[in-house]
Amino acid sequence: MSSCLFCSIAAGEIPCQEIHADDEILAFADIDPQAPTHILVIPRRHIGGLNDLESSDTELLGRMLLRARAIAAERGLTGPGYRFVINSGDEGGQTVGHLHLHLLGGRQMQWPPG
Ligand code: 5GP
Ligand code: ZN
Repeated sequence: MSSCLFCSIAAGEIPCQEIHADDEILAFADIDPQAPTHILVIPRRHIGGLNDLESSDTELLGRMLLRARAIAAERGLTGPGYRFVINSGDEGGQTVGHLHLHLLGGRQMQWPPG
């Protein structure tokens, strides 16, 4: 079992409610949803977070964004709206050290986010 929670989920060692899976990207429901739609989009490869990204990850990041948008569209969120969040570091609110994009939707979002 990997020491990284999301690597373990990507390896199928820990179950998840899978939304999308391909060779590169996995999307699954957040275990503690903060909105009616709350989905995490992750690279299968371990990347610790935003600070660990390299220029060679540019296309991966683009595909993560477009995958998250496609999932938002499948859920009818394109019209009403939705939010992407990537937390980084302690003050940024990051609690899992494997890059993940939150897709949040289905309710009115607030600003500032807190
Ligand atoms: P962060 O706080 O790092 O931006 O987001 C981590 C997210 O992972 C949180 O929203 C948390 O609810 C979610 N999470 C933590 N453990 C698990 C788990 O075992 N399974 C799933 N599906 N989500 C998890
Ligand atoms: Zn990992």
